[in-house]
Amino acid sequence: MFGNPRFYDSLPLVDKQATPLDRKRGHLHYDRRRLSGRITGLFEAVQPLHVGTGLFVPPEAIGIETDIPLVKSFYQVQGRLTIPGSSLKGPVRSLVEAITYSCISKTKNKKLDRRRHQECQYQSKRHTGDLCPACQIFGAMGYQGQVEFTDSPLITGKSAIHQIPPQYQPKGDQARRYYPHELVDERGRIWPLEIAMPGCRFGFSVQFKNLIPAELGVILIAFGQGSIPVCLKVGAGKSSGLGAIHFTEVRMEYLDFDQLYGELASEDAWQPLNVQECLGQARGLLREEEAVQAILTALACNQVVR
Ligand SMILES: [Zn+2]
Repeated sequence: MFGNPRFYDSLPLVDKQATPLDRKRGHLHYDRRRLSGRITGLFEAVQPLHVGTGLFVPPEAIGIETDIPLVKSFYQVQGRLTIPGSSLKGPVRSLVEAITYSCISKTKNKKLDRRRHQECQYQSKRHTGDLCPACQIFGAMGYQGQVEFTDSPLITGKSAIHQIPPQYQPKGDQARRYYPHELVDERGRIWPLEIAMPGCRFGFSVQFKNLIPAELGVILIAFGQGSIPVCLKVGAGKSSGLGAIHFTEVRMEYLDFDQLYGELASEDAWQPLNVQECLGQARGLLREEEAVQAILTALACNQVVR
């Protein structure tokens, strides 16, 4: 082998397709022509998982016995391991960006063509902007977007210490980077992390507002509900055998406004979402088949190295 091995792969860039934001999508009211509701369920760690606080702590402080003097601690809320909503939203967004004609958000690459690839611009005072599919759903600078991810607490399972190689930020390149499950960096494991062990289960909840079925469809693909079940990677060590999660018991419901206004606060107002219809409509937002297949296959659950 020559040079440094590479533990990521890239998709060719596509021009984003930005459309004007519809004012009716605003945050305050429900639009009867669109869908509002919730996605709830569990996800299971297929590999060790680490979402850190950035702090090093003595292992006894987190109840783990080891002779390593300091470890990077896992994020906690009220004494329980927790994946913050933003740490789940990020990977869902990146996959949706990658499979649609979307901009590249949160990139440090300044050489990207502004009009074709850079993050969409939103003018908050006038509530206007031309936004790509991902920005329409997940938001852009100054615009909240139409989905809200709540924190995911640990429900069952234990933590442990796991060591990974030092992590480097790869240099910016002219493509969209992703981490295929089959590429695993095993070199020099010297970073000690507190991890949620494989098999740990977390509860999650996502609220969505004023989406169209096609947008829900691309979100469902990222949640592993499409024809290729994918395992997203969350947290640290994506190139080092960490982070793969598998969604289970996924429930998707929308608010039926006729029921809602007829009988206030009735549970009947929550109706199951037609998943197949949303997935079918998603085709209208997907980029060329070849790229979509490449990334979904690389992230398929059956590729995860355990
Ligand atoms: Zn965008």
